[in-house]
Amino acid sequence: MRHLPYFCRGRVVRGFGRGPKHLGIPTANFPEQVVDNLPDASTGIYHGWASVGSVDVHKMVVSIGWNPYYKNTRKSMEAHIMHTFKEDFYGEILATSDQKRTDSLDSLISAIQGDTEEAKKGLDLPEHLKLEEDNFLQVPKSKIMNGH
Ligand code: ADP
Ligand code: MG
Repeated sequence: MRHLPYFCRGRVVRGFGRGPKHLGIPTANFPEQVVDNLPDASTGIYHGWASVGSVDVHKMVVSIGWNPYYKNTRKSMEAHIMHTFKEDFYGEILATSDQKRTDSLDSLISAIQGDTEEAKKGLDLPEHLKLEEDNFLQVPKSKIMNGH
C-alpha cells in the first residue's frame, strides 16, 4: 500500500447486488479502472471521507477485497457512505480518501457494521478531520482517475 491517505475517484458502477442493502448497508462500487490501479497489498477495510457528485463530504467505510465472482483474480472496491441519500446514485462521480486501515474482517457485512462506530469516532480526530475539506473531495472532475 502506498502511503495513506489514498485518494480514488470514479463513476459508481453496479456490483452484483450482493451489497447487504436490505440491512441498510449499500456499498457503492468503484469501476474496474480505479480498482485495477490499486496497489496489490491494498486489501482491507478503511475509513475516510467521501463525496458523491457534489461538495458534500461524508464519512465512509470502504472495503477493498478479492472478488469471488472472478475466482479472486479481480479486486473490488466498495464504499458505504454514512449518509442517507434520497435515491441511488449509480453513474455519479464518487471521490474518496482512504485514510485509516483497520484489520480485515471475515465478511463485508460484519466489517462495515463493526467499523462504522470506529470510523465515526476516528474521523473526528484532528489528523483525519483536516481532509474533510480537501479539494480532491470537493471538486468532482468528470474523468476517472485515482492517485494519492
Ligand atoms: P451493488 O451491488 O450494485 O453495488 P448495493 O446493494 O451494494 O448494490 O447498493 C449500492 C448502491 O446503493 C450504490 O451504488 C448507490 O447508488 C446506492 N446507495 C444509496 N445509499 C448509499 C450509501 N449510503 N452508501 C453507498 N451506496 C448507497
Ligand atoms: Mg455494492
